[in-house]
Amino acid sequence: MTMPTGESGRPASLTVVNVLSAGRSGSTVLATLLGQFRGAFYAGELQPLWGPAWLPDELCSCGQPVLRCPIWGSVLKDVLGDEVGAAILRLRRLRDRTARARHVLLPRCFAGRAQEAAEFLAATARLYLAIQRATGCRVIVDTSKWPSYSVVAGRIAELDWRVVHLVRDPRAVAFSWGRPKRWKNAQGEQVVRLPPHQAAYYWLVQNGLIEAFRSRFAHYARVRYEDFAAEPQAVLSSLLDFIGVSAEPVSLEMLTQARERHILGANPDRFTTGAIAVRPDDEWRQRMSRAARWAVTAITWPLMRRYGYLG
Ligand SMILES: [Zn+2]
Repeated sequence: MTMPTGESGRPASLTVVNVLSAGRSGSTVLATLLGQFRGAFYAGELQPLWGPAWLPDELCSCGQPVLRCPIWGSVLKDVLGDEVGAAILRLRRLRDRTARARHVLLPRCFAGRAQEAAEFLAATARLYLAIQRATGCRVIVDTSKWPSYSVVAGRIAELDWRVVHLVRDPRAVAFSWGRPKRWKNAQGEQVVRLPPHQAAYYWLVQNGLIEAFRSRFAHYARVRYEDFAAEPQAVLSSLLDFIGVSAEPVSLEMLTQARERHILGANPDRFTTGAIAVRPDDEWRQRMSRAARWAVTAITWPLMRRYGYLG
């Protein structure tokens, strides 16, 4: 992998690839594979890092509580200092006052908060640069899901920010939300599932916001999960071009092999330590009820049509 270059042609110090998607669209698999390339590191979802009850109960995908993980323990100490609890509360307040959708959509909501925004951006820059120091990577893959966070963090001068918008057929997404997944942290496990209409609504809002913010992203590419599952190597290769890196040819077999990873806050599948399976996962075509398909299509059809999922 060679050093990415910025708009000016000068080497950018650090590239961040933000894979934006609605939940259950396959971002964990795509991001994990991108993170397997030499010089890249898949960090997980960083925007919820300052969320309520997140630290120190959250587990890294290596199985350690975040603060005891060999990578994240040092990164967070670097960013937060010794007063971890107070620093997290401060960053959560700054994020929620400057990086929500309303702050991007309605600049008046942002008025008088320039200093808080600058403080949040400086802390966010420190986070990504600390990850680079701890891992030696040149590309960080981040599956943070807030489109507004992506707009705001994309303003950080030290980062070459690139958005990959991953879409998946909402009927497949809704079917996946109907299957329970176990989320675990140091306190125990929680089972998460959604009924089809709620999954469809979430898919519509999330993809609608990404579309609404599209012109704010300096670098944007859209990928359909179905195309990625059908031809992973071709899609990865075109994404590397988009990200601005050239990588030596690597077989899919090498990319999907088991490896220790340190992924935060993403889909529970991040705890899978074995080889990564890239599959279409179209069980919904046989098992999803006609009523559920109808409900999902009725809610999401404008964007389904845009992404080629109708007709
Ligand atoms: Zn770890």
